[in-house]
Amino acid sequence: MSSIFTRIVNGEIPSAKVYEDDHTFAFMDIHPASRGHTLVICKEEYPDLLTTPAELVAAVAITTRRVAQAIVAALQPDGFNIVQNNGAAAGQVVFHYHVHIIPRWEGDRAVRGWEPGTANMAELHELASLISAQIKTS
Ligand code: AMP
Repeated sequence: MSSIFTRIVNGEIPSAKVYEDDHTFAFMDIHPASRGHTLVICKEEYPDLLTTPAELVAAVAITTRRVAQAIVAALQPDGFNIVQNNGAAAGQVVFHYHVHIIPRWEGDRAVRGWEPGTANMAELHELASLISAQIKTS
C-alpha cells in the first residue's frame, strides 16, 4: 500500500505543487501551521530520515533550501522553521520521509518550542560519549 504522499507524486491525489525534480517533490501542506507551509518529500518512499539513503536526504535538503528561498522571496516572512518529525512520539503522522518549511511572522506562535531543561557538564560529557561511540565512520 502506497503512502498518501506517493499517491500525490503519482497524481492519484490532488496537491498544490510548488516544485518537482528527479528525486524530490514540494507541495502545500493541506493543514498549514502558517501561510505558505510547504512540504518537501523524497519521491521514493522511505518511512523516515534514518531509512532514507543519504544521497536522497541530500537531494531533499537541497530542494528544501531552494523552496525556502522562494518562500522568502514570495511571502516575505520574518523567518521560517524547518521541521522534520521521526516516529509517532515525535509527532510523525505520515510515514514517508518529508520536511516541513513553515514561514513565520513575529508573534504568530505557529510552532511551539520546548521548555529549556537543565543539565550539568558531567552529564553532557557522558551523553556525548555514549552518542559519539555510535557514530560510524564510513
Ligand atoms: P508529519 O506530522 O510530520 O507526519 O506531517 C504530515 C503532514 O502532512 C501534516 O502537516 C499534514 O497536514 C500533511 N498532509 C497530510 N495529507 C496531506 C495531503 N493530502 N496534502 C497535503 N498535506 C497533507
